[in-house]
Amino acid sequence: MMRGSWKIRIFIGLAIVAFAFFKKCSNTEENPYTGKSQLISLTTEEEIAIGLQSAPQMAQEYGGLYQDAEAQAYVDMVGAKLVNNSIAKQTPYQYDFHLLADPNTINAFALPGGQIFITYALYSKLQNEDQLAGVLGHEVGHVLGRHSAERIANTEFWQTISQGASVGADAGGLVSGIGQNVLLGNGRGDELESDDLGVRFMLKAGYNPREMIGVMQILKDAAGPSRVPEFQSTHPDPDNRIENIEASIRKYGG
Ligand SMILES: [Zn+2]
Repeated sequence: MMRGSWKIRIFIGLAIVAFAFFKKCSNTEENPYTGKSQLISLTTEEEIAIGLQSAPQMAQEYGGLYQDAEAQAYVDMVGAKLVNNSIAKQTPYQYDFHLLADPNTINAFALPGGQIFITYALYSKLQNEDQLAGVLGHEVGHVLGRHSAERIANTEFWQTISQGASVGADAGGLVSGIGQNVLLGNGRGDELESDDLGVRFMLKAGYNPREMIGVMQILKDAAGPSRVPEFQSTHPDPDNRIENIEASIRKYGG
């Protein structure tokens, strides 16, 4: 009796794991803009809808929009220049660039589908238009690279696997631990890919990509010797990023 139920559990567990892998195969597609093969479960329409839906709440978490029409128009202008001169224009995404009021949190981020944000704290530290283009170009890279959508699909995949494993062999905790590491690993790769795309967009739009290194310096200074800002927790070390950016500049002949 015990032996029978053990076998059934293994069978169900394996079926769940097999289903997860089947879904992974059928949902893996090549990103036409980066050439990267990635696991995606959302349509571009869903990405855009999620971004638009979450944008007001995200803005609220950073003190709402910065109340200066001139500064916002400047951010819009630089963002539009990057999009209109690069492959970003060929994507189905609607890019919106928002300047947020938060004067303390140095951050910039992108929601899936094209909603892009920069805090006043970071904006006010930038020394020139090229550096602003560097920050916004990096965020456009996250959108076009479909990094959020990929993270969502990977999370679903690992949730299904760990369900299967916990039914089959009570090893769910172990497998979901691996899943989290994979997610964090992807996050680092995403940042470096976005820096690379950012350099590409900057060159196309006539900006100096070396100013991206200036942005890294600002991030480094903001971090201080001991304090780890929010930006750092999701972004790789600025020194690693500088090396990567320099390689991209050489690659694209900037
Ligand atoms: Zn990033």
